[in-house]
Amino acid sequence: MIGAGRENAVQYDAIIVGGSFAGLSAALYLGRARRSVCVLDTRMPRNRFADASHGQFAQDGNDPQAMLATMRAQVAAYPTVHFVETQAVDAARDREAFAVALANSNVVRGTAILLAFGIIDILPDLPGLAERWGRSVIHCPYCHGYEFSDRRLGVLNLSPMSVHQAMLIPQWGPTTFFLNGGTIDPETTAQLERRGVAIEPALVRGLVGEGVHLSAIQLAGGREQPLDALYIGPPYRFSSDLAERLGCAIEDGMLGPTLTVDEMKATDIGGVYAAGDITRTGHTVSFACADGVMAALAIHRLLIFGAPT
Ligand SMILES: Cc1cc2nc3c(=O)[nH]c(=O)nc-3n(C[C@H](O)[C@H](O)[C@H](O)COP(=O)(O)OP(=O)(O)OC[C@H]3O[C@@H](n4cnc5c(N)ncnc54)[C@H](O)[C@@H]3O)c2cc1C
Repeated sequence: MIGAGRENAVQYDAIIVGGSFAGLSAALYLGRARRSVCVLDTRMPRNRFADASHGQFAQDGNDPQAMLATMRAQVAAYPTVHFVETQAVDAARDREAFAVALANSNVVRGTAILLAFGIIDILPDLPGLAERWGRSVIHCPYCHGYEFSDRRLGVLNLSPMSVHQAMLIPQWGPTTFFLNGGTIDPETTAQLERRGVAIEPALVRGLVGEGVHLSAIQLAGGREQPLDALYIGPPYRFSSDLAERLGCAIEDGMLGPTLTVDEMKATDIGGVYAAGDITRTGHTVSFACADGVMAALAIHRLLIFGAPT
């Protein structure tokens, strides 16, 4: 049992696992509601590879790490919010509350728990790709596409979702779809051609360029095609197994898992809420922040009215 012999551990109104866009937004609302909150965080937000975040008002183009530093400072101004920079490694219901075991061997307790631990992208093992992730190898045109307007763009075929990506990208510039040895049916080929997409069937061997910049994609047979940005839609997994440990329902999607939540961000386990990328398929900072706010409102209601019947 988590925390056996530590029955005197401080009990918070809420434990938040993950102190990034979703978790900090929830902490801000709960702090303003004068609730005691413990934010556990390992400081590994998903977009830490990018030097600029786009698409959020008042923050468009800002460094995501600087955004989070400002958010942490603003949340820290509320005296009932406590931060612990460590990993949550286990969680279980403990009488009327939840006990969360930490990597530093401590245990914290909370009446409610909010899972906001984000996801991990599983990048293809291609020479030159990982070091350009978030800079010239990108996944989201709304986040980073504008900066590559009218440049030479590519989409790497990784899954059936890659065709969808290849249909979108010509909006931002001339696009090649790199099949990488895969195949597509004649109808899809015709749709892509109507969008002006060039189709390259060869296997992809690697990426080259100066530093984080991309200048060309290397193809089987020694050919190189000049390229400024490569789009990929990688599969992903949860950053933590806490949802499984708590017994929450999880759905399998085309690229990765999604935690099942209702419109108030409640999971199917009473007292367990979830927010951010782990709860949705559209992954943006704005959605994560909105999720955190909604979860905070739901937790505050739970603390006043108890669980809905
Ligand atoms: C390369 C890249 C660029 C992006 N650019 C943009 C952009 O320009 N605009 C935009 O809107 N979106 C962008 N995104 C998407 C954006 O990063 C996510 O939608 C957003 O970070 C989700 O926020 P979150 O709070 O759900 O999770 P995250 O930001 O991933 O935060 C999860 C937090 O939980 C912590 N954590 C994980 N496990 C534990 C644990 N067991 N215990 C304690 N803490 C834990 C992590 O360290 C992390 O701090 C980008 C994504 C990528 C990959």
